[in-house]
Amino acid sequence: MAGYTNGLNGDGGSVLFTNVRILDATGEQPYSGEVLVQGNRIKQITRGSSRFSQPMTSSGATVIDGMGATLMPGMIDAHLHLSWNNAPGIDPIQMMELEEHMLVTMEMAKLVLDAGFTAGRGAAAAKPRLDVVAKRFINEGRFPGPRYLAAGPEITTVGGLGDAAPSHIPHEGLNLGIVVSGPEEVRRVVRTLIKYGVDSIKLNLSGEEITGMGAEETPMAEEEVAMAASEARCRNRVLSAHARSSGSVMQCIRHGIQNIYHASFANEEALDALEAARDRHIVAPGMAWLINTARHAEQWGIKPGSEVSMLYERELEMCIDTMKKMHRRGIRICIGGDYGFAWTPQGTNARDLQIFVEMLGFSPMEAILAATKYGGEIMNMENELGMIKEGYLADLLLVDGDPLSDVRILQNRDRLLAIMKDGKFHKAPRASEARRRLTA
Ligand SMILES: [Zn+2]
Repeated sequence: MAGYTNGLNGDGGSVLFTNVRILDATGEQPYSGEVLVQGNRIKQITRGSSRFSQPMTSSGATVIDGMGATLMPGMIDAHLHLSWNNAPGIDPIQMMELEEHMLVTMEMAKLVLDAGFTAGRGAAAAKPRLDVVAKRFINEGRFPGPRYLAAGPEITTVGGLGDAAPSHIPHEGLNLGIVVSGPEEVRRVVRTLIKYGVDSIKLNLSGEEITGMGAEETPMAEEEVAMAASEARCRNRVLSAHARSSGSVMQCIRHGIQNIYHASFANEEALDALEAARDRHIVAPGMAWLINTARHAEQWGIKPGSEVSMLYERELEMCIDTMKKMHRRGIRICIGGDYGFAWTPQGTNARDLQIFVEMLGFSPMEAILAATKYGGEIMNMENELGMIKEGYLADLLLVDGDPLSDVRILQNRDRLLAIMKDGKFHKAPRASEARRRLTA
């Protein structure tokens, strides 16, 4: 029988966090109190210091004395690629043999959860069923990993991002995406991916500098996008898009594509349209990819100052400007940085919060909401995930220190004293850090 448990409450029994500062991610300032978890949900929240009083009675609960540590929701990455294998480029991701690739995907899932990310939305998988199988094995408790929504490979146009096959070997298997031309091909691919079990359909609606198609190009035809949208919708699947160009952001709005990734070049017309439809869309810029490709990939052949690096510097500058405008317009922006390349390794995802604070002018609270509350929304679980509220799923982090005074502490695994997902500890607090005892 497979399965992993981690000592404390492996049976999914009750856990009482006492003496904690509760950062509930509703936007309210933290308050001291207690949180009782029963099964996989938050059963009860009590306000007020319990240090000098009797903790709320909970017969048989495991009591975690947080000794003033911060209890916050687990972080959520809006743009995960668990099958991106930390390789130096797109080709070594795609060319990895399937058997190794499945195992590596599970390794990546653990790295992400170890970093305090208890959920994430798959933004694309390198092979059709990697995400679907990863999600199933995680959900069944057979492998550690974040709560996950499965994507399939990106659907792309001939010559678009993800079409890497050379002219003399025009073979589908050489591509990271599934290459389509015309609405009927789109229809077949969407239906096929849904048959395989994906939760969302991802379209590559713009280019990507590193692949040779400019970020400001918008290659997919209107009727192709419309077909993908209608086929996904009739099976209740959510749509996501790689959409850097302004034209591609407009396509997302016209066709109701909920999750807009990147959006760096959205112009005033696109911003107006997005603001008007802000209840229906969520943006995740994926900034770590821009920053690290421009500045921190020399070891892998992308020298700062080189042509490619300068293209990413230019996009980064546009992206910062666009995201600041979106933020002012009240458009929801999530963290999630396209992690999974050698220069954006999985597990460093919390760096996004620092980027939002330092580059976009988010307050630490706003950055935390972008990593929690809005994450619950991009998971389409807004009524049960991303905040500490009674009845919500118990995905929690016990953090040594105050992330509101410095969001960078969330990048330090040693400061994550405990990681709970679905009411069970992935990382249990050490006895020396948080006293535990069993109540009678
Ligand atoms: Zn991506």
